[in-house]
Amino acid sequence: MKITEFISQAEKTLFSFEILPPLKGQSLKDLCEGIEPLMEFNPPFVDVTYHREEFIYKKHPNGLLEKVSTKKRPGTVGICAAIMNRFQVDAVPHLLCGGFSREETENALIDLNFIGVQNVLALRGDAPKSENKFVPEPDGHSYTKDLVSQIVGMNKGRYLHEETETGFHTDFCVGVAGYPEKHFEAPSLKFDLKHLKAKVDAGAEYIVTQMFFDNQKYFEFVKKVREAGITIPIIPGLKPITTLGQITMLPRTFFLDLPDALMDELEKCSTNADVKQVGIEWAIQQSKELIAAGTPCLHYYTMSKADATYKIATEVF
Ligand code: FAD
Repeated sequence: MKITEFISQAEKTLFSFEILPPLKGQSLKDLCEGIEPLMEFNPPFVDVTYHREEFIYKKHPNGLLEKVSTKKRPGTVGICAAIMNRFQVDAVPHLLCGGFSREETENALIDLNFIGVQNVLALRGDAPKSENKFVPEPDGHSYTKDLVSQIVGMNKGRYLHEETETGFHTDFCVGVAGYPEKHFEAPSLKFDLKHLKAKVDAGAEYIVTQMFFDNQKYFEFVKKVREAGITIPIIPGLKPITTLGQITMLPRTFFLDLPDALMDELEKCSTNADVKQVGIEWAIQQSKELIAAGTPCLHYYTMSKADATYKIATEVF
């Protein structure tokens, strides 16, 4: 079913979560262990992230450098099929501009349509760690708005290299990302919202936000999004902090602030277990406040580990 339909038919706030495809070599069993406990809370959909290959340069004895790919997380289509089959839940693959030509995007969408995927989250992706600027593939999309247009075009039967519309068409519901604390490349929130509006005008039907730890920033963001004339559902993304390392890593990686009250509690922690406790409690309070405000769905970034999200959902749903 489409995410917009789940939301419009829901009588209370929905629970959903995101998982990462396993690294090559890991089994589907590991992945399922990160999903199984959370099925108790009846998520209508589970997001599956997509990760570009990262490259390193290996030096050979003759001095030549070889570019080799590391950290592969292959098989989004297969993973979506496996999750849908095993758990009878809608899988939502993340689809990137980065690393894909238009042709490859079309092929991926045809595969996803074949296996019964009905929703995709369209994203630009970031530059690989070895590069400092996002560069699209030759004939790839520079911005998500153009990826949304391609998907919506296929929904209308517009495939590449077809001179006339084919009569066949996909029927994807397309989600896009929103940033309560602004996307890091955008010079201002107003600029970012203008381009969010362009994604919606291109056909996006719902927004999932970047994680945030201060609900006030989310509420202000929603207000500004509505003032910009965007009316589609906005799903907040939540992440419980679970390790000491994440206290610095999350702000650095996702360009967000941790509120003073949260930091005051985290600074008292000396072990990962202490941090996890604080992180879970904070996320429970955030979740309760968001539900009280009538938020349509809460979306948890689990990093494929169920335990923290399970504890939150037990208290909240
Ligand atoms: P866009 O909407 O294209 O925007 C990128 C930047 O360009 C913004 O600053 C925007 O303001 C600006 N911009 C847009 N259009 C224009 C224009 N025409 N001219 C000038 N500037 C413009 N990354 C992954 O690699 N894999 C994932 O699975 C993944 N999942 C994510 C899920 C969520 C919910 C979120 C919030 C992010 C996710 N990301 C993922 C990260 C995402 O790929 C990055 O944040 C990326 O840098 C931006 O993607 P976007 O779709 O928001 O880009």
